[in-house]
Amino acid sequence: MKRIEALRAVVDATSDLPVIATCAATSRELASIEDRDNHLYLLDAMGLAVSVGTGLAQAIEGSAVLRAVVIEGDGSLLMNPGAALTAGYLRPENLVIVLLDNGVYASTASIPTHAQQLDLGRIAEAVDLKVLQVQNTEELALALRQTLSENGPWFIHARTEPGNEPGIELLLIDPVVHGDRFRRWLSQRLHA
Ligand SMILES: [Mg+2]
Repeated sequence: MKRIEALRAVVDATSDLPVIATCAATSRELASIEDRDNHLYLLDAMGLAVSVGTGLAQAIEGSAVLRAVVIEGDGSLLMNPGAALTAGYLRPENLVIVLLDNGVYASTASIPTHAQQLDLGRIAEAVDLKVLQVQNTEELALALRQTLSENGPWFIHARTEPGNEPGIELLLIDPVVHGDRFRRWLSQRLHA
């Protein structure tokens, strides 16, 4: 499946859940599908999606917001693998990490990542995350349904094709304004 197809499946399943997306093309493609207030695009903060998502999951535990969803890439996770270890250590049951693994740094000339040799799903299993392997959008939709109804912490390992969707606009939003939009949305959901 293409990354944008995987992102559509995530968008379809997360209309009322916070979604933390890794930087660059992943965030741009997500915003191109639908730029919703529940999306937090990490813009230039590569490697931090799982960290932010884990902290958010802990912060909303026991609230009306039932899951924190993270969209991470293989290159970004490899930049900060300690975040997955921390998630495995802290074990927030409401955390759903969706790893879109295309084996390359697609935003920078498709340079191969270590994920071409290292199985990031097995690494996630080794740190006690609950891993689901998916190969297509149907499997991803099913996995999302399961992770949104059963406790995690979850790690959906989704294999995607290399490459970026053509014709996607840059995300030129002010990070402060964008962060405030997300914070307001989350605050409203928490106090609804
Ligand atoms: Mg990648």
